Amino acid sequence: MDSFTDAVRGHPWQIVGWAGNVVFFSRFFVQWYATERLKRVVVPTAFWWLSLGGSLLLLCYAVLNPHKDLVFIFAYAFTWIPYIRNLIIHNRHAKAHLDCPGCGEICPPRSNYCHACGCKLEQLPGARMADGRGREAAKSELEKK
Ligand SMILES: [Zn+2]
Repeated sequence: MDSFTDAVRGHPWQIVGWAGNVVFFSRFFVQWYATERLKRVVVPTAFWWLSLGGSLLLLCYAVLNPHKDLVFIFAYAFTWIPYIRNLIIHNRHAKAHLDCPGCGEICPPRSNYCHACGCKLEQLPGARMADGRGREAAKSELEKK
């Protein structure tokens, strides 16, 4: 433990590097836990946030520590792109889910009927449209008819 403390004291950027390692590595436990809980392979949003945070900390460490290593810098220079893209896609998918006005259940995008109570989703006022439009769009469309 003394050699670890001495190493960190000598190079304060190691704190950033170790924090990056902890954050980046923790994503595996988050994904594993989510998969075990649902008994199917899932990648929760937290996995992409931890990937993004960990890789940015590791990139900071790689760029700012005195022993710049181009291989290490390159390894983390572009990984944020798929992480941010996956977060955007996750967010769009979550917004496309439909709220059942009958029972409040959140139904998968493009559902015609609520899987819990059987309500027809797009015909009820207050429901989100199957194409992702919100309650107001559904309401105004119904009022036109
Ligand atoms: Zn329902």
